[in-house]
Amino acid sequence: MQFQSLWAATAPELESFANRALPARADVVIIGGGYTGLSAALQLAKLGAHVTVLERETLGWGASSRNGGMALTGHKHGVGEMLQTFGAAKTHDLWDASLAALECVATLVQTENIDCDFARRGHFEAAYKPKHMEYLRAAHELLEREFAYPTRIVPKSELRNELDTQFYHGGLVDERSAGLHPAKYARGLARAAQRAGADLHDGVAAEALEKNGRGFTVKTARGSIQAQNVFAATNGYTSRATPQLHKRIIPIGSYIIATEPLDPQLARQLIPHNRMIFDTKNFLYYFRRSPDDRIVFGGRAAFFPEKPGTVSESAEILRKGMLQIFPQIENVPTAYAWGGTLGFTFDIFPHAGEMDGLYYAMGYAGHGVALATYLGQQFANRLAGKTWHNPFEGMTFPTNPLYWGKPWFLPFAALYYRFMDWLY
Ligand SMILES: Cc1cc2nc3c(=O)[nH]c(=O)nc-3n(C[C@H](O)[C@H](O)[C@H](O)COP(=O)(O)OP(=O)(O)OC[C@H]3O[C@@H](n4cnc5c(N)ncnc54)[C@H](O)[C@@H]3O)c2cc1C
Repeated sequence: MQFQSLWAATAPELESFANRALPARADVVIIGGGYTGLSAALQLAKLGAHVTVLERETLGWGASSRNGGMALTGHKHGVGEMLQTFGAAKTHDLWDASLAALECVATLVQTENIDCDFARRGHFEAAYKPKHMEYLRAAHELLEREFAYPTRIVPKSELRNELDTQFYHGGLVDERSAGLHPAKYARGLARAAQRAGADLHDGVAAEALEKNGRGFTVKTARGSIQAQNVFAATNGYTSRATPQLHKRIIPIGSYIIATEPLDPQLARQLIPHNRMIFDTKNFLYYFRRSPDDRIVFGGRAAFFPEKPGTVSESAEILRKGMLQIFPQIENVPTAYAWGGTLGFTFDIFPHAGEMDGLYYAMGYAGHGVALATYLGQQFANRLAGKTWHNPFEGMTFPTNPLYWGKPWFLPFAALYYRFMDWLY
């Protein structure tokens, strides 16, 4: 088994952007080279701005080349919860933005000619317990009634049409969601941003920001850059360089395994429509077929941000989970195992806006493939003085007086969510 991301290992190499001269000045410095930062860089460069991207590791190194590759409609919170929290107008805005985000990915893939196996196969939300079908039915009815949005309920008796398992109790199909190869997408965005004229850097961490009358001085180990604006796009990897964001982002580990390629006929039998699958647990499983017919199976097995040892422990837990669902593949070895860090927030909503002059978009809670791309593009429009939209504008970005960026409470949260999964 290789302890690395299947996606990073199977995407064409990206040229190195290390050891390039840093500019003295930029219109915009973007901190973080994942989907948020690269999509913003691409759009800013197209609009004629001098934009510099600083990536501490290599472009796409973070969650953007390690995720499940599920570009999904909606948000982490269901529409029912959003209606209760925000009322109708705001919920419509948030829902519409999620659909616009998916279109944004589709358009970029096409216009920038990004070869990343993007395909609209839909998603299937699988009911972990029989009573979870009530929640899915309610979501289905609400989406139809309030949003004129079609989804389909699949009863347990017809589950085989979606998944060849007895483990789940039915589910909900949404045909609009898509799948892609995450690392090919991230590297494709980087190439597109470079073509458009963005100034990209690997191996340069923003260490501190100093506000002054002309914007910010961005300090790095290789010198400083005077930036008119700074956009923080660091999500789960947010650090003390931006202390006001560090104490608002909770890094949570998520882990994935990928099997050796299956016989294509067996792969089609397990997941006939090649949909993106996730279930209704708090400690959820998410899984899919890869373009080369592996089963890619993820979950919040350990809950903690990546640490040595957690990937191999999580791989064992995930393999057990995968075989409970698909005992048919007991003899297919695990080929890859890896982890990545999600950016959660205290209200489990993404947050995007401006704080003390610093722009930011983050906190996608495992639902950021489409939204990160969209918000990056919208913030680029905003910084370039064009028309923009931010459905999270004005939302309070909560923190907690007992939190400074080290999530000491995760073991308790993990116990709580495991208990809730058992109870409900
Ligand atoms: C295992 C896993 C599975 C997931 N599955 C899905 C999925 O199927 N569908 C979905 O929608 N979402 C999924 N997500 C979430 C999704 O991947 C993220 O929301 C998205 O990639 C966030 O992109 P980003 O650009 O904001 O952050 P990232 O891609 O994490 O990029 C942030 C970058 O900032 C850099 N950085 C941090 N600090 C500094 C600094 N001071 N200076 C310079 N650089 C810095 C980091 O090195 C990192 O590369 C998953 C995430 C994980 C970890």
